Amino acid sequence: MRVLITGITGFAGSHLAEYILAHHPDVEVYGTYRWRSRMDNIRHLLDRIRLIECDLTDAAAVYWTLRDVRPDWIFHLAAQSFVPTSWKLPAETFAVNVTAQIHIFEACRALNLNPRIQIAGSSEEYGMVHPDEVPIRETNPLRPLSPYAVSKVAQDLLGYQYHMSYRMHIIRTRGFNHTGPRRGEVFVISNFAKQIAEIEAGLRPPVIHVGNLDAIRDFTDVRDMVRGYWLALANGEPGEVYNIASGVGRKIRDVLDALLRMANRPIDVQVDPSRLRPSDVPILIGDASKFRAITGWQPEIPFERTLEDTLNYWRERVRASR
Ligand code: NDP
Repeated sequence: MRVLITGITGFAGSHLAEYILAHHPDVEVYGTYRWRSRMDNIRHLLDRIRLIECDLTDAAAVYWTLRDVRPDWIFHLAAQSFVPTSWKLPAETFAVNVTAQIHIFEACRALNLNPRIQIAGSSEEYGMVHPDEVPIRETNPLRPLSPYAVSKVAQDLLGYQYHMSYRMHIIRTRGFNHTGPRRGEVFVISNFAKQIAEIEAGLRPPVIHVGNLDAIRDFTDVRDMVRGYWLALANGEPGEVYNIASGVGRKIRDVLDALLRMANRPIDVQVDPSRLRPSDVPILIGDASKFRAITGWQPEIPFERTLEDTLNYWRERVRASR
């Protein structure tokens, strides 16, 4: 079987490739990259995966990639994935997240391919959630609060539409926040962990700069999340949408405190107004019971270990860069 991972050089894509190689050794893993992609996340996998250069915003490149690979399954993870960037670059966010996905669907149609396709939607699609709607089910109204979130809604609904219109085997996942080693430094837990690692190494004063600490998020370890992605394509109903979430809400302030307890010296906290967003989603906690019912999935990695592995990852990165 051939599997294509778009965004294999990214955070989740690299962990998904690792998961497949470890647990499904008979699968051939292909991945797309761009000429400018950094290989840090997948360097250790390069002799076991096949990479194809493909900017997904280029319809012809997508067509030729799918024609060459003819994948049985596609995990579509590539995206402009950072909410704050979407405020600055909304059009680019839509080009990468929405138009690129249309290129994949249309290339499949033109080539008469009907692979299973997973669309990596997000809890950000729910956006403004009222306290009595938590934990959030798939039936909750979507009230997205950022250009990124709207682009994810568009990806999600296009997945539904292409399934309904052309009977394509598309499964939509709405992943709640996932984190762990290799998460980009702009994302909250990685950002805290990197700052702590730099403070421990004496590279900055013992003050950690933070944004909104009151937001409540549902974190899953990325290694559990990508196992969920696999199960979604293995067992999911075409056309359906599934939350993948731990079901546990954590205040960012508590996550910060837990990381600070792991630091090897006392660190002060300073709120930095430039880190606050124009509108932030106050609470996101997911109900994954629909997904659990068809796959048996549940998180296996304790949150403390996720934090510890993330901090150790950044300690190693800081050490290596000195
Ligand atoms: P990353 O930002 O780490 O990775 C994004 C990947 O997309 C990179 O490999 C990047 O390549 C690739 N990419 C971006 N633009 C293009 C393009 N034009 N053509 C080809 N490839 C491109 O994201 P994550 O791994 O964190 O997220 C994976 C998916 O999961 C995304 O769709 C994201 O929206 C979704 N998601 C993530 C959540 C999370 O908490 N992490 C939560 C819910 C959903 P390059 O290396 O060249 O930059």
